[in-house]
Amino acid sequence: MELDRKQFLKAVRSLLSYHVTLGIEDYPGNEALERFLQPRMPEALKEVVKRAGPDPERRPEPVSAAAAATSSKKAADEMSLLNIEDIHAEVASCAACDLHKHRIYPVAGRGGKNGPVRLMVIGDWLTTMGQESLQPDLLLGREQDLMLSRMLKAISLSIEKVYITNIIKCAIPRTVQPQAAHVDSCISFIRRQIALLEPEVICTMGPVTARALLEKKQPLSSIRGKFHDYRISDNRVIPVLPTYHPSFLLQNPEMKKATWLDLQLLAKKLGLPLAA
Ligand code: SF4
Repeated sequence: MELDRKQFLKAVRSLLSYHVTLGIEDYPGNEALERFLQPRMPEALKEVVKRAGPDPERRPEPVSAAAAATSSKKAADEMSLLNIEDIHAEVASCAACDLHKHRIYPVAGRGGKNGPVRLMVIGDWLTTMGQESLQPDLLLGREQDLMLSRMLKAISLSIEKVYITNIIKCAIPRTVQPQAAHVDSCISFIRRQIALLEPEVICTMGPVTARALLEKKQPLSSIRGKFHDYRISDNRVIPVLPTYHPSFLLQNPEMKKATWLDLQLLAKKLGLPLAA
């Protein structure tokens, strides 16, 4: 019974954080919702839903999403319910879209355990086959992960300060092509990871992540090479630098020069020296 309560609190906390990230300001209270939540709600969470009253003519009182999130956060924090591992666990058992049928392993993300995250790298997705599929520690791919390591080294950024993940959280076979609906299903994970980790800077790698996260329609070539705003709250905006995916660079080495310019921008933004 206690486990159910913890999972409930965790789910509410995650949902509220996500809503705040989306900019949802108010929730209408209503009697049915209150009745549903009442029996096992802790005191802190009871404040989340305000009773609208039995009068059908009376309009429900709105409840501030931020206040609700703060209230539930307190309850959740007290019980240490939400951290990045909770999201990783959700990803591992997610069946929100049909890609889970092809999942070779979950790719929730890695890093962020040793203090503040300076940089979050978000790739499109990982396809894997053969021997590679036996390496569930890959994030972007074997060669791609090596290239990313070299990139981080070139801007003197310790891997411990970086969180690396993909927008699609299931590693899938090369024969499967994710569609826009799969990105739509999966994007709440990345939005919650960003809200939780609050990286100083985000670097998206690949066209799908850049366009989905920044809600842009232009090709990657026209939005890369400059910072864009990603707002996580009224007073917190994270700069996002879109660039090319290492897979693309492996196939198109002539684009490494443009990517190096992007990395230099990243280093400047983070106040890091370029490696000699
Ligand atoms: Fe869930 Fe994302 Fe995998 Fe779809 S792709 S099953 S939303 S983790």
